[in-house]
Amino acid sequence: TTVDKKTAVGATVEFRSLRRAFGATTALDGLDLTINPGELVALLGPSGCGKTTALRILAGFESHDSGQVLVDGEDITGVPAHRRDAGMVFQSYSLFPHLSAADNVAFGLRMRGTGKAERRSRAQELLELVGLPQHADRYPHQLSGGQQQRIALARALALQPRVLLLDEPLSALDAKVRLNLRDEIRRLQQELGITTLFVTHDQEEALSMADRVAVLRAGRLEQCATPSELYARPATAFVAEFVGTMSRIPCVRSGDSVVLFGRPFAVDGTLPYDGELDVLVRPENVGLTASATGPALVVSASFLGSVTRLTVRLADGTEVKADLPTEAAAALPIGSNAELTLPDRPVLVDRRTA
Ligand code: ATP
Repeated sequence: TTVDKKTAVGATVEFRSLRRAFGATTALDGLDLTINPGELVALLGPSGCGKTTALRILAGFESHDSGQVLVDGEDITGVPAHRRDAGMVFQSYSLFPHLSAADNVAFGLRMRGTGKAERRSRAQELLELVGLPQHADRYPHQLSGGQQQRIALARALALQPRVLLLDEPLSALDAKVRLNLRDEIRRLQQELGITTLFVTHDQEEALSMADRVAVLRAGRLEQCATPSELYARPATAFVAEFVGTMSRIPCVRSGDSVVLFGRPFAVDGTLPYDGELDVLVRPENVGLTASATGPALVVSASFLGSVTRLTVRLADGTEVKADLPTEAAAALPIGSNAELTLPDRPVLVDRRTA
């Protein structure tokens, strides 16, 4: 057999009202999420929001208290982990140290009773697939971290699973290897059409790799959307502030709009909440121009390459971040004053927190 490319083999995965508590800790509090065939969904959220628990329940390593996990419409609750047709890659390399790369890759095939010659040729194909054809006879301790993760990926793909589960697979690697492997995993996943659930706490990783990003908060789904939707149209202030950078600026209510620096701003829909409000704006939407009498004082600058992110402080102590082309930022040294301009429509209005 050969590795079947370009056949969409991915399953549909559904979490329905999934609940799981550990004693007094609620890890999942009614999670609803559907992953479409061949889709890569990243589970993103703060530490403890239930990402790993959801993945482990799908893998069959953890039970749930109520709700359902469906694969192609079938409840898999009673199905043991090894029958779930899922490949897994974990953060720590978890290769068998006493087995060569090829034997690690072929491990599942051996368990399944595949003959030696076929195992060897399948392992070789998979090693080629992950770019390590000449490393078949190396042992894990003779491989770099990135190479070990490639082997772990090949091993996870060996049984042609319909679901691929990735639990922070890149977190232990250094920056450059991580970026390479990001592209590699994405390429393979798309080529093979495997439905993939990717757990990460790294928003950049989630946004750059996923078809859709599911943001979890306290065991529930806050929003699941494409990276660009999530960024441009966050459903809640939590998502807005978790994904990308946001500044909060206190504003004044005026009928159905809000007033900021003396200028009215329209708001999508009706104003939420009674009481005081903040608007949320992204740094790339904030403009600054040098002005000795301007209300914003530049307090810090961080160089990000083509842009420099300036933080300015307003009279009431509010801090706002603004991304300027690095050349333009040179005209606004720390300690200088600036006029501040905002987009026609702030991203979101939220209850004041400060
Ligand atoms: P992190 O990003 O820190 O890995 P996470 O989003 O993956 O977090 P989970 O590991 O799913 O979160 O944990 C969710 C909650 O459930 C946490 O409060 C955690 O302490 C708790 N929890 C998870 N597994 C267990 C367990 N086996 N026993 C007790 N509590 C657990």
